[in-house]
Amino acid sequence: MKKISMTTPLVEMDGDEMTRILWQWIKEDLLLPFVDLKTEYYDLGLPHRDETDDRVTYEAAEATKKYGVAVKCATITPNRARMEEYHLKRLYPSPNATFRAALDGTVFRAPILVKGISPVVSGWKKPITIARHAYGDIYKNVEISVPGKGTAKLVFTAEDGTVTEKTVFTFDGPGILQGVHNTDASIRNFAKSCFSYALAAGQDLWFSAKDTISKTYDGRFREIFEQVYEEGYKEAFAEKGITYFYTLIDDAIARIMKSEGGFVWACKNYDGDVFSDMLSSAFGSLAMMTSVLVSPDGNFEYEAAHGTVQRHYYKYLKGETTSTNSVATIFAWSGALRKRGQLDGNADLARFADLLEKATLDTIEKGEMTGDLARITSLPDVTVLDSQAFIQAVAKNLADMLAS
Ligand code: NAP
Ligand code: MG
Repeated sequence: MKKISMTTPLVEMDGDEMTRILWQWIKEDLLLPFVDLKTEYYDLGLPHRDETDDRVTYEAAEATKKYGVAVKCATITPNRARMEEYHLKRLYPSPNATFRAALDGTVFRAPILVKGISPVVSGWKKPITIARHAYGDIYKNVEISVPGKGTAKLVFTAEDGTVTEKTVFTFDGPGILQGVHNTDASIRNFAKSCFSYALAAGQDLWFSAKDTISKTYDGRFREIFEQVYEEGYKEAFAEKGITYFYTLIDDAIARIMKSEGGFVWACKNYDGDVFSDMLSSAFGSLAMMTSVLVSPDGNFEYEAAHGTVQRHYYKYLKGETTSTNSVATIFAWSGALRKRGQLDGNADLARFADLLEKATLDTIEKGEMTGDLARITSLPDVTVLDSQAFIQAVAKNLADMLAS
């Protein structure tokens, strides 16, 4: 069989621990035999980040802006323990945070649905994609522990010296106080990413906040979403037959529980933090969840939603059998290859990505899966495979599909 060719390289970012091992196997067994793989390789493994003083992370982010599509392996965000373990020169920031800052993106997470792993909410038939605003609100707050009687004020001093002042509360005893902010620019970029993503996915976009209570703050989010929609997306949405609608966060929850899924749900920072954990648990597993960072000017970075699966890696190093689920990492590759195929007008590459996903899901539906899924599946006659055997089972299915 002739290998599928590529015109533009993908930005490939290698990572750490167990996912770095899976990365290699996925390339060897699922990609290289079928695709004449073109990538620009960046090693974001912690040792190499340390060697380059983290320059490699910034270079990878720049390459992503240049080529538009990247695929990333899970990486360690170092803490004190990791600093000792890897003898690091310093504590580097999370590569994901570096990326979000460089690309100014929004993270979209969607569950991977497969027969035999049922969502807790029985009505959900299609994935619900959550889009979390990744800037501001309580994540950049300023807080005061109020010791006793006194007056709290909100004061804004403009560049020209004009002062706007409001009383927050007059305390007659101890209490607490918090200041939060966001910027029009960040909200607008968030909105653009959400509309672009929904359009590309051909799915409705919901946005929820609490503007009945927070008339100015949440009201501003609602206004900006409305403006971005009217100015840039309304016609394209109508052509695609999809809709945008805003609703209160509590109403959104009630509707989501009764929905069939199949839409994009844009959330403010805190709502997205909380509800993405709820959605991933309700859909089954973090290892069955895709994650893509989309920048407002249309760059895409695909990865798995989980971490480097450290505990499994230590077992692997000791020569013990592991059964690590590679589905989310396989889907990071298929997502990136499909996007590359679409951007380059390379239909064969996009079709390969579809088949790779189908081969992966078929493997599970035939009852061959890793231990994490075997524990929760409703399928009878399940075979638990080790980390590499699962990838090889997918490879066999994929080769059969490509041959027919
Ligand atoms: P984790 O790697 O997501 O793993 C947590 C636990 O979830 C595992 O111990 C395992 O449970 C289960 N799990 C996760 N992924 C799995 C998979 N693919 N197959 C089977 N089981 C899976 O999170 P962590 O252990 O908290 O973090 C490890 C490292 O990852 C940290 O250094 C952190 O900084 C990094 N991290 C990176 C990213 C990223 O790059 N995007 C995201 C999160 C964390 P059992 O052990 O019970 O089997
Ligand atoms: Mg959370």
